[in-house]
Amino acid sequence: MAKYVYGFEEGNKSMKELLGGKGANLAEMTTLGINVPPGFTITTEVCDEYYKNGKTLLKEVNEQIYTHLDDLQSKMNKMLGDKDDPLLVSVRSGAADSMPGMMDTILNLGLNDESIQGLIKKTNNERFAWDAYRRFIQMFAHVVMNIDSKKFEAVLDEIKQAKGAEHDSDLNIDDLKEVVEKFKGIVQQEKGESFPQVPTVQLDMAINAVFMSWNNDRAILYRKLNDIKGLLGTAVNIQSMVFGNKGESSATGVCFTRDPATGENSLFGEYLINAQGEDVVAGIRTPDPIQHLDSKMPHAYRELLDIRKKLEKHYIDMQDMEFTIEEGTLYMLQTRNGKRTAEASIRIAVELVEEGLLTKEEAILRINPNQLDQLVHKHIDHKAKSSTSSIAKGLPASPGAAVGKIVFDAHEANELMEAKADEKVILVRVETSPEDLIGMNAAEGILTSRGGITSHAAVVARGMGKCCVAGCGDIKIDEENETLSVSGITLKKGDYITLDGSTGEVYEGQLALQDPELSDNFAKIMEWADEIRSLKIRTNADTPHDAKNAIKFGAQGIGLCRTEHMFFENDRIRAMREMILADSLEDRKKCLAKLLPFQKKDFKEIFEVMTGLPVTIRLLDPPLHEFLPREEDEIKNIAEELGVTADKIKSKMDDLYEVNPMLGHRGCRLGITYPEITEMQTRAIIEAATELSNAGHKILPEIMIPLVGNINEFKHQKEVVLKTADAVMKESGTTIKFLIGTMIEVPRAALTADAIASEADFFSFGTNDLTQMTFGYSRDDVANFMPVYLQEGILEYDPFQVLDQESVGQLVKIAIKKGKSSRPDIKLGICGEHGGEPSSIEFCHNVGLEYVSCSPFRVPIARIAAAQAVLKSLHFTALDIESPCNCNPSLVTSA
Ligand code: ADP
Ligand code: MG
Ligand code: MG
Repeated sequence: MAKYVYGFEEGNKSMKELLGGKGANLAEMTTLGINVPPGFTITTEVCDEYYKNGKTLLKEVNEQIYTHLDDLQSKMNKMLGDKDDPLLVSVRSGAADSMPGMMDTILNLGLNDESIQGLIKKTNNERFAWDAYRRFIQMFAHVVMNIDSKKFEAVLDEIKQAKGAEHDSDLNIDDLKEVVEKFKGIVQQEKGESFPQVPTVQLDMAINAVFMSWNNDRAILYRKLNDIKGLLGTAVNIQSMVFGNKGESSATGVCFTRDPATGENSLFGEYLINAQGEDVVAGIRTPDPIQHLDSKMPHAYRELLDIRKKLEKHYIDMQDMEFTIEEGTLYMLQTRNGKRTAEASIRIAVELVEEGLLTKEEAILRINPNQLDQLVHKHIDHKAKSSTSSIAKGLPASPGAAVGKIVFDAHEANELMEAKADEKVILVRVETSPEDLIGMNAAEGILTSRGGITSHAAVVARGMGKCCVAGCGDIKIDEENETLSVSGITLKKGDYITLDGSTGEVYEGQLALQDPELSDNFAKIMEWADEIRSLKIRTNADTPHDAKNAIKFGAQGIGLCRTEHMFFENDRIRAMREMILADSLEDRKKCLAKLLPFQKKDFKEIFEVMTGLPVTIRLLDPPLHEFLPREEDEIKNIAEELGVTADKIKSKMDDLYEVNPMLGHRGCRLGITYPEITEMQTRAIIEAATELSNAGHKILPEIMIPLVGNINEFKHQKEVVLKTADAVMKESGTTIKFLIGTMIEVPRAALTADAIASEADFFSFGTNDLTQMTFGYSRDDVANFMPVYLQEGILEYDPFQVLDQESVGQLVKIAIKKGKSSRPDIKLGICGEHGGEPSSIEFCHNVGLEYVSCSPFRVPIARIAAAQAVLKSLHFTALDIESPCNCNPSLVTSA
């Protein structure tokens, strides 16, 4: 017969899936000889079958439950509901993944009008017995009978007030008796029946309620937010009660074996004298710091310190424990690997290695790479955050936090900054375009109501390391009248808001921020990761500032330097626009000649920062209309500035108009129709490189042709590049080595990679566009449907965040195979956003890329993820990482 119920002495910690985390660890502690009140666990399989069988339990299950109950009764030498010495039990939920507080637990079950007399007799503590009974009625009525807890709270408050009692613990026996009577009255009134008196009926109802709580709204939402999938359900633990509410020598508490915020190696926690389980968390009274227990109950405290040591050594991780002290005797009620901040996670991993409990490899696997984002960015002060609630939630597009005054116009953001250096602004726009760059650069953070995780705002903000909340559809932005409104609140220009780019939350007003700090432990763990990983980590950087930042975080080169952003600064955009408006090749060349020195200067600065390291420069990529003004008065201004008519600009804009610009005249299509642009950019790159090379720098340029789908496109551009480079090198008398390669971002390029590789020195997978074109989803419009797709389970994750190995990954593999067939030593890397996402990095390692490239602030994440990829391929296993999952960056902040 199938086994549905396990006594605590029958299970162990490896049985989490079946017994739930709580049950498995209660069993483990029991076997370790730790003082755990006896009990048994109904498996998660039963929960699964309970739902499959129309919310009923099989006969065999009931039989096994009652057999185990009989065992428990003989072990305790007490009977449930006994009128002389009753057994009381708790009925506790607990799934394989911890879902603290999401499901239900009932304490003191087995009390009724008769057994309370037995409890009084046996304990000789009448006050305690009535206290236990009133707690039981309230909890049972709420959890099992769905009666609103507030009704009970109100009665309790009334009586407390009438008796002049400040705390629950100030109520005397008669007061508590009165509470019990009134509570029973509430049940009668609400349900038209009296409070269930038969203990086995109570037990059956409670088990049923715990199974039901697996699918309450809270639990479902929690699983969704934490990406908890594929579990059978909750287990039910039935455990004999111990009492922390028996007077001054009893207590209940919660503690961590190390500080979960800082990782400091000292016991951290709180307790309450004369209280029961829930009281500590519920904040009924302010608990005392755990260290005070030393003087109050020295014996129990010392025992707790011993258990702390024992459990840490056994689990080789920081533990989160629940305990109760009953008349001086310590009982353990729960242990699990504790959740922790990124800072604590690193410190604990490093110190466990130093203590000889973990290997470096195991320590690396303990780190949740995404969580490192907390360390490299500013974040909202935890206290400030928990004392207020957000007004809206968008996509966590670029991590960090920012506070500032709302500004709706990019130029205005910049002007405000220029006028007052310490002015802090948040740029709020429906969406951004390259034209807004100046304002994005000036702003502390960016908020958009449209656009996905790879929209312009998101990509640029991540590159800049600037906080961004994108696609916040709840917020209505009125750029014209300069207001934003959301759920009844309207904010105007100049009002303060705070953004949390790590969670996507938007707050009204100014919340306190905390600065990042990189510890020695951080450096140590990075060093260990570097020893292990084989993937190189490059960065996506367009400016010397970003490049420097990336080097600081450990980047080994630039995998993507976009050149379009270089055309937006004040003095350049004018020449760019003149170039676009020019009617003849000759005029265009004149304008390009004006841009040349600017580009050359930029490249020189970036090359200098990256001396000795490869720098991949992508030639101009976006459609040209992005460089033209959008609004009427701007068009007028620019027409005046350039000495042309507004109509001329408008007609040019009409010419450039495209129904589908992302699939339009961009990438190498520009370079082919206007080879003079490719010429100018090549000249700038090679002149910069030769000059620096002459000055003794080692420069390793890699010129990258974007959006190639056809070998002839590549050949055409390669010829222009080679011819120009040759000419420049002849002029300067200096020869430098450089590579010419392409992005693989059009499916056709992947499918014809053998032909392309016969000409290209390298491939860099541009997985943003490749995902866009594989799925047929517009990167800039996914916010319109992606949330529904994720909610409905159409997609498991956003493929712009997590590389879709089934489709895009397959194209990558095909391209690698075909590419290597015609050029075995072809250099392979990835420069899409996926280059900074752990599961995608693991994929890149497994398919044999040489490097991944990601935004500067994600470099540390990539270093860890790349080391983890090696370890996982060597079948090292991560010992239960208790920090949040890898896929969704929005989850990474919860401690
Ligand atoms: P959660 O999963 O929400 O933490 P628990 O099942 O751990 O719920 O129970 C809630 C509280 O009740 C905890 O503080 C726990 O220590 C306490 N508790 C549970 N079972 C017992 C018991 N048998 N004796 C004493 N206290 C208990
Ligand atoms: Mg608990
Ligand atoms: Mg692209």
